[in-house]
Amino acid sequence: MNLKGKVALITGANAGIGNAILTKLAELGCNISFVDIAHNELTENTIKRVEALGLKCRFFQSDVSNFQDAEIIIQKIISEFGKIDILVNNAGINKDSVIWKMTEEQWDSVIDVNLKGYFNYVRAVAPLFKDQCNGKIVNITSINGLRGKFGQSNYSAAKAGIIGFTKALAKELGKYSINVNAVAPGMINTDMMKNIPEAARTAALQETVLNRIGSPEDIANAVAFLCSDLSKHITGEIIKVDGGQYI
Ligand code: NAP
Repeated sequence: MNLKGKVALITGANAGIGNAILTKLAELGCNISFVDIAHNELTENTIKRVEALGLKCRFFQSDVSNFQDAEIIIQKIISEFGKIDILVNNAGINKDSVIWKMTEEQWDSVIDVNLKGYFNYVRAVAPLFKDQCNGKIVNITSINGLRGKFGQSNYSAAKAGIIGFTKALAKELGKYSINVNAVAPGMINTDMMKNIPEAARTAALQETVLNRIGSPEDIANAVAFLCSDLSKHITGEIIKVDGGQYI
């Protein structure tokens, strides 16, 4: 796989799965722009790592649920890099609760970040991709969007929404040679897992048929494939990367 000369935008890429995706795309020669809610040491280390590879790297601090910010950030990337080839929508949060205890804030914030946040960046980049007649969009969803998860009705609803969103986008954008796909991770070892009770983590491990919890790199490998020409005939697809957790 080779992404030399390409320009990618990855959301939620300071840490976890987003950072592994960023690293993998950079290793394949891709210039990087990324968005995260905080600007911290992780951000600076990431920029240094990418620039050490001789690539361009630009960070934007923003909450992905902010519609205006997405428009501004996309315009800045176009003016600095000249183009965008790849959008990876990854930034996500979970605020778990059974439905009879879920607050309006828990519902709204998870939908705003995990669903509207993805819309914001696709809406901002779609006119450019359409004009270029070229582009790859990869949305990070979850197996819990496919099967529903106890205690995660807000998260499951957002992630299921991303699956419908991905398929509709593939139909709208296909004639412009734009591929739109989603990756559905099972349980992956990141900071997000810290919010999950120990019993649920053990149960997830037992559900996998490969008897392992996935790593962020497992997801990054699938995303890199979907960003490359090797997947040029794949669109509207949801690829589970879950060690067989949901078969
Ligand atoms: P993570 O370790 O919590 O990393 C998410 C990153 O996104 C963090 O840097 C976080 O910043 C940032 N972020 C959070 N809210 C944001 C916002 N509103 N705007 C911009 N950036 C924001 O999570 P992860 O496990 O890597 O998850 C990445 C994606 O994979 C999410 O969409 C998640 O739903 C999905 N996923 C994860 C798993 C899993 O088991 N880990 C399974 C299935 C799907 P802060 O840390 O500063 O808040």
